[in-house]
Amino acid sequence: MITVIGSLNMDLIVQMDAFPKQGETILGQAFQTVPGGKGANQAVAAARLGHEVAMIGCVGKDSFGEALRSVLQQEHIQTGAIVSSPSALTGIANILIYNNDNRIVVVPGANYELSPSHLEASKHLIQKSQMVIIQLEIPKETTAYAIRMCKEAGVPILLNPAPAANFDVQWMEDITYLTPNETECAEIFNEPIDHLLEKYPNKLIITLGSDGARYSDGTYPIHVPGYMTTAVDTTGAGDTFNGALAYALVEGQSLDEAVYFANIAASLSVEKFSAQGGMPTLDAVFARMA
Ligand code: ADP
Repeated sequence: MITVIGSLNMDLIVQMDAFPKQGETILGQAFQTVPGGKGANQAVAAARLGHEVAMIGCVGKDSFGEALRSVLQQEHIQTGAIVSSPSALTGIANILIYNNDNRIVVVPGANYELSPSHLEASKHLIQKSQMVIIQLEIPKETTAYAIRMCKEAGVPILLNPAPAANFDVQWMEDITYLTPNETECAEIFNEPIDHLLEKYPNKLIITLGSDGARYSDGTYPIHVPGYMTTAVDTTGAGDTFNGALAYALVEGQSLDEAVYFANIAASLSVEKFSAQGGMPTLDAVFARMA
């Protein structure tokens, strides 16, 4: 089983002909609500490939919270450890889209109410997991606590350091895999990539957008090229990569095979609209690999 500890958001997306100026009211073209949050997205990515997944997170006692729970249940994800905040509302991302440009405001809401005591209450899930996936859209102290719990239970951790500002380099010792994109990597370490890969062999996996990903096997730096495709919407590419990487690793693939698998899965995800919308099934990944 894979357990994801992380965020759930409802994305509120408005498409428009122009961004409103200060004090101006304009008419938009279209409105959509789309389930998101890096935690939920990565849980869906792993579950859609066919693995048993449980999610630990926090939503509000509101209709968005209910809707997000039910989306995960439809993906056969265990939602018993998604708690409801008595006071905060479900996290949202307000996304304005005009041409290829966007302006986004995230209100973490209930995601920032996920506490170490919630993790303690779900200790049984963590202890029986083959891998725990964590991102950083929850309080930093909760992430630190999660890492300690996994270490004590001997459960491998895949940590996707987004947003990078919430990462603590001291965690490197206890993390099994760290998967920043290039921007996050630069923000966290501020060191040349080759040096970092050498310093963290088989641990640091840097995603490079359409170029794929890099890591070091301890002897050589390895570049696993991305799968060339026409991207329609790259939202959630990293989330698909992470869910698929965790899936492949717990299925016993080598890191090299798993990174290749995750690149293929993520390339399929960018061909469709929205983060969760394009996440592939196992059959779709195998079909592309064939
Ligand atoms: P993030 O979405 O977190 O910013 P990246 O942009 O590095 O992360 O993308 C993560 C992974 O998604 C890449 O390693 C690659 O496998 C895949 N990917 C991203 N963009 C594309 C693209 N345009 N074409 C094919 N694969 C892509």
